Amino acid sequence: MDLHSGLPYWIIKNELYNYFNSLKNNYQTEVVIIGSGITGSLAAHELCEAGIKCAVIDKRTIGTGSTAASTAQLQYEIDVPLHKMAKMVGEENAAKAYQASLKSIKDIEKVLKKTKVDADFKNVSSVWLASYKKDLKLLEREFEIRRKHNLPVEFLNEKQLLKKHNIIGFGALKNNEAAQMDCYAAATGLLKFHLSKNELDLFSHTEIKKWKEIKNGYELETTDGKIIKCKYVVIAAGFEAGEFLPKKVMNLLSTYALVSHPIDEKLIWPERSLIWETKEPYFYMRTTSDNRMMIGGEDEDFQNPVKRDDLLREKIKKLEKQFKKIYPEIPFQVDMAWCGTFSSTEDGLPYIGTWPGKDRMFFALGYGGNGITFSMIAAQIIRNKLTGVEDERAEIFGFDR
Ligand SMILES: Cc1cc2nc3c(=O)[nH]c(=O)nc-3n(C[C@H](O)[C@H](O)[C@H](O)COP(=O)(O)OP(=O)(O)OC[C@H]3O[C@@H](n4cnc5c(N)ncnc54)[C@H](O)[C@@H]3O)c2cc1C
Repeated sequence: MDLHSGLPYWIIKNELYNYFNSLKNNYQTEVVIIGSGITGSLAAHELCEAGIKCAVIDKRTIGTGSTAASTAQLQYEIDVPLHKMAKMVGEENAAKAYQASLKSIKDIEKVLKKTKVDADFKNVSSVWLASYKKDLKLLEREFEIRRKHNLPVEFLNEKQLLKKHNIIGFGALKNNEAAQMDCYAAATGLLKFHLSKNELDLFSHTEIKKWKEIKNGYELETTDGKIIKCKYVVIAAGFEAGEFLPKKVMNLLSTYALVSHPIDEKLIWPERSLIWETKEPYFYMRTTSDNRMMIGGEDEDFQNPVKRDDLLREKIKKLEKQFKKIYPEIPFQVDMAWCGTFSSTEDGLPYIGTWPGKDRMFFALGYGGNGITFSMIAAQIIRNKLTGVEDERAEIFGFDR
């Protein structure tokens, strides 16, 4: 699958992790993690911390899947608002999913601190703007239910929005618990950390093509016929995980993103908030550590990469126009733009855990706009399962829900 095209900023900003180590011989370990993106690297981190022998395998250059294209905003707010999710999965489970999401931002920060991985992690506020006056009703409903479940949230009216955020609008929901990071630096940094401690094996440019269950484990086969035996497999293959799934569980979409030229720090909007809107298609924006503005959205309901790439220029213009509507006074010039595959699920929740009847293959599928926070949750659930620790989140995000 062609996961992204154009010029993703993170690969330019970071030095490419030029690691080449394809699997040359048959191999055996306890747990094989397929995928070296943020999901695979967080899973590897959790397993290494628990002393479980594991290997990460990727068919590409390390970390260059969707992780390299991500705009990497970390929010507890999930694509489906809590008041709507409550109707789909029950209020209690929906609130637990939101609470888990909130906690995962802190957990990512802790992981990066502990491993001393510099991934430009920064705590910022999140401002969810009502795109139209009529959307204030939606924000009010959302505000009420989030308050009821002790989730951090503030309602900003027209005046407060102008005063605190310099935005002429109808109103917004705000919280101070969001964050942003460089997802590529986080993923590659974590893998480098555990490699340096000899806790992990890492194979790049190695594609798993076949797999079968054997007694007490799995046998995986690479495209050039090498056999890997392991007790457990973790599928952290991102939007390409469909090939391992007995049934489709997600919709694949196309999404667009860009960064501006850097600007004078003094001109950046208040609090460097993550700003996003209620309208569809989706629109969101953040800043980077080198004072660029990164904006994205304009999702399309298809995954065809040729069709997706054809729309890039048009989408850049639309995103730029939307930015200028919010902050017309901030100088804005596009520097790099890219597009990528994205996905959503019916209820906005990821799929984490085993497929019924296949107890040794774990899926860590953080689909949706919270892919990264879901990856953190997935890594912890899998670690807990393998170390025999009860985790009530398993049910909420499992295939049986
Ligand atoms: C433009 C864009 C903006 C985004 N913005 C945000 C955001 O603001 N916040 C957020 O939380 N999320 C965001 N996301 C989503 C987030 O980036 C993804 O959820 C996350 O990067 C997925 O990471 P991953 O490790 O699961 O997948 P990937 O990074 O794609 O890694 C999976 C890896 O598996 C490998 N692989 C697949 N199949 C095989 C195989 N058979 N054998 C060997 N290797 C295999 C691939 O080569 C790949 O490297 C965004 C995504 C995009 C595209």
